[in-house]
Amino acid sequence: MTKEPTRPIPWANLLGQAWGNRFPVDVRTIALEYSTRFPDPIKTIAQAEVATFEGALYPLPKSGKWAILYNPNITSAGRINFTLAHEFGHYLCHRNRNPAGFECGEDRVLGIDSDATIRQIEQEADTFASYLLMPIDDYREQVGRSEMSLDLLGHASDRYGVSSTAAAIKWLDFTSKCAALVVATNGFVLWCWRSKAAKRRRIYFERGMPLPAASWAANPHLVASPSGLALPKNVWSSRSDAREMAIFADSYEMTISLVVFGEEEWGLN
Ligand SMILES: [Zn+2]
Repeated sequence: MTKEPTRPIPWANLLGQAWGNRFPVDVRTIALEYSTRFPDPIKTIAQAEVATFEGALYPLPKSGKWAILYNPNITSAGRINFTLAHEFGHYLCHRNRNPAGFECGEDRVLGIDSDATIRQIEQEADTFASYLLMPIDDYREQVGRSEMSLDLLGHASDRYGVSSTAAAIKWLDFTSKCAALVVATNGFVLWCWRSKAAKRRRIYFERGMPLPAASWAANPHLVASPSGLALPKNVWSSRSDAREMAIFADSYEMTISLVVFGEEEWGLN
């Protein structure tokens, strides 16, 4: 047997190749089948009524096998798929480090846990999930030369069986565009995720700041095309115009804005 990977991305690539990159990736089948090669396989994947977490990886008593549990209150199939992949990532990469298992809440995605080691482990499980469900080469092919749009984001989210948020984060991780995802509730920013180019331009939206008053997210009655709403300078950035694609989630008054920034202007204001 060849040596198995230890890191999340090589693991995701190996499994992606073994399962022929069929989309959406069937995490449940892969986790149950692949883990049978280990003495401590995943025996069951099931819903469990748990208030405090979205997903968990638990050792089963006596048998030495494992269970992946997920919260039945998660209504989106995309989020369930991502949660299962995240827990499978813990199983592959971390189960020997933490024999008591893992309980994972929504904040894992945001990396806001105060403990740096936990934060790193959670990010690794997310990286595994992201690469298993959305291989970058395939995603690049899907995008081609097109501009990002709500239709394209919807296509990616359908193809990979993930939420629009997860699909947008993945796009930000590989695009050369200057862009950011801004998630807000009741008009205030919860968190943002930036592309490399946006980090270089030091674009950042801090938790708790109000959404720009003229943004689409702050004005849900506005009608825009699938390519988004073109907004002038000084709405999302003092140095460039922007194109905002907004998604209005029913629950928690949540808005999700994918903002693509224009070229920087350095003239006098
Ligand atoms: Zn986790």
